[in-house]
Amino acid sequence: MRIAKGSTISGDAGHNCYPDIGAKGIRSEGSCTKAVWKLVINKLEAMGYETVDCTPWDKTFNSAGASKGYRVKLANGSNSSLHLSIHFNEGGGRGVECWVSKLGGRSEKFAYQICAEISKLGFVNRGVKYSNIYVTEYTKMPSVLIECCFIDSREDMDNYNPDKIASAIVVAITGQQDTLKQ
Ligand SMILES: [Zn+2]
Repeated sequence: MRIAKGSTISGDAGHNCYPDIGAKGIRSEGSCTKAVWKLVINKLEAMGYETVDCTPWDKTFNSAGASKGYRVKLANGSNSSLHLSIHFNEGGGRGVECWVSKLGGRSEKFAYQICAEISKLGFVNRGVKYSNIYVTEYTKMPSVLIECCFIDSREDMDNYNPDKIASAIVVAITGQQDTLKQ
């Protein structure tokens, strides 16, 4: 499953607003999601895709839930073919996993491809999981929440390279090589 050139891809860098600030491990989750998502945008645009950034950068909300509502509203108004939420995991594991709101559809196919590409960078492939996560549940297009790797794993953080992770995501969803490799 690939997104055709010229299509619109929406997404958001997890957290990066208040009170939705994200996890702190060896690195801060918000700074990692920002680095990866900005690179994904640059790479997709260089390849001829449209992008819509749904991140509420540095905005203040009454709750973390309201930050998610903001992201979903922008995504659903964007007419995008795919929505990506970039996150990093914590809690003592290691590797990449992708979350979708239900199995068996296009979201799962994209999620499987993204896990496979990121794991090629040397991260354990924890596979595709499903749950009624707010952003993937309420976005109306195929939607994947990517937990790129663990910010509290020394091994994952030693292997962390935002440019390589962004390239892997771009290759996974477009089927084309990233032309902006750094
Ligand atoms: Zn997160």
